[in-house]
Amino acid sequence: MKIYCHIVIFIISFCTLVACGTPPVASTNTPTIATQTQTQTSTPSPEATVAPTATHTSTASPTPTTPPQPEIQYVISTELDYVNRTLTVAQFISIPNTSSTAIREIILLVPPNLYQDAFHLKQITWDDGQEIADHALRGSQLSIPLPEPLDPGTTKNIILNYEIWLPPNDASDETGPTPFGYTTRQINLVDWYPFVPPYRDGEGWVTRDPWAFGEFLVYPVANFDINITLKNLPQPVTIAASAPDIGEGETHRYHLKQGRNFVWSVSPSYEVSEEQVNGTTIMGYVFTPDVVAGESAFQATIDAFQLYTELYGPYPHPMLSMVQADFDHGMEYQGLYFLNRGFFASFDGTAGSFLVAIAAHETSHQWWYGLVANDQALEPWLDEALATYSEYLFYEHYYPERLDNFWWDHRVNPYHPAGWVNSTLYNTSGYREYRDAVYLRGAIFLNDLRELIGDEAFFAFLKDYASTYTNQIATGNDFFRLLSKYIDTDLSDLLELYFLR
Ligand SMILES: [Zn+2]
Repeated sequence: MKIYCHIVIFIISFCTLVACGTPPVASTNTPTIATQTQTQTSTPSPEATVAPTATHTSTASPTPTTPPQPEIQYVISTELDYVNRTLTVAQFISIPNTSSTAIREIILLVPPNLYQDAFHLKQITWDDGQEIADHALRGSQLSIPLPEPLDPGTTKNIILNYEIWLPPNDASDETGPTPFGYTTRQINLVDWYPFVPPYRDGEGWVTRDPWAFGEFLVYPVANFDINITLKNLPQPVTIAASAPDIGEGETHRYHLKQGRNFVWSVSPSYEVSEEQVNGTTIMGYVFTPDVVAGESAFQATIDAFQLYTELYGPYPHPMLSMVQADFDHGMEYQGLYFLNRGFFASFDGTAGSFLVAIAAHETSHQWWYGLVANDQALEPWLDEALATYSEYLFYEHYYPERLDNFWWDHRVNPYHPAGWVNSTLYNTSGYREYRDAVYLRGAIFLNDLRELIGDEAFFAFLKDYASTYTNQIATGNDFFRLLSKYIDTDLSDLLELYFLR
């Protein structure tokens, strides 16, 4: 009920605060965001905006005898000015202290501030309306000193009002992946709002330095309620998102329970596919010229989703969206992934193609990244080696004739992969060395591990790993500690070969 009260305050504050924001580009349109807020305020039951609306059963539901841990909660209302590529945002964050020590300062990560002139903070207040004057935004970190320590089990709520002036997308083969920003036919909102990093006893806020390649963010699970309105639309557009659109009329509403992040992508050029698989809606969004390749990518996503549900366990969310990237990179997010446009162009119509292999790879990230997260900067092998080996499992199951005659011969062996599987983002010389060590040798390690311990133990372990660390941030130590329950074999030679110790 505490959250309920704060949401009401937020909605009231939101009416006042958003109206203060000056659009970065003069617009003659009446801000529709105010209308949307009025609609919200008049909703008889405001808690409907925070209550889970998905009927999907989550494997992570707390048992009735255990009091649920307070969870991070985001309520975000935003208006996208499509022509001017700007967003006006009002955001409520509820931040619980789930550690065992008092917290003296809150750190929020603000990835848009890594882009020049993209993030414009207008106002930041506590939920009682009191302005937080002594905050400091440096790089991607927003530091917020607490007036008094936040004790374990207690919660602090913050309201931010800001604008985002979207940059042109700058993802490239060597420096990405950075889907954030716009192209002529796509606007991508990924890591677009200030978010709460994990907090660990003894370490504090888990923040990692941005890097020229790879991923560096670490995400705790959170609940999301997102309202999106669009203005200045010269033509109809389609929104692809991490969750189903439950809005009505002009307002797009989304609820995502226990997810890592909420992302969305807008384009006037998406051809849309949809299929129900095991109670989840799989969506496909591809550009019109690529619908033929898109059908194969969509089918690979469906096939991979079915296989991984069997191998790793159920997917607890109502939707997964496959989106063709308008840049040369693939990238996974919660409930949505981008598939490299270059793979559509080079698709040869067969399963022996990167389009199909990487569709399987990115789909598996819903388990290895989404369900079980990891420190992407310091232990990237935990999701990337598993996602790359998931490609192998996909081919083994559906296209065994392509294992040698594509996966090994084209995906792995030509690179002569070398390097330590447990390399961090920061101790390799470039993207290629990083990928070869973490992704490719990581997958080879998992294949060797499987041969050593046998299929029964290997797959029982993977399923247990997914289930045990659901909604958590697993570590390499967690991985090997759990693995030790499934083996009576000495792993030291294998570890010596692949892991820097
Ligand atoms: Zn990956």
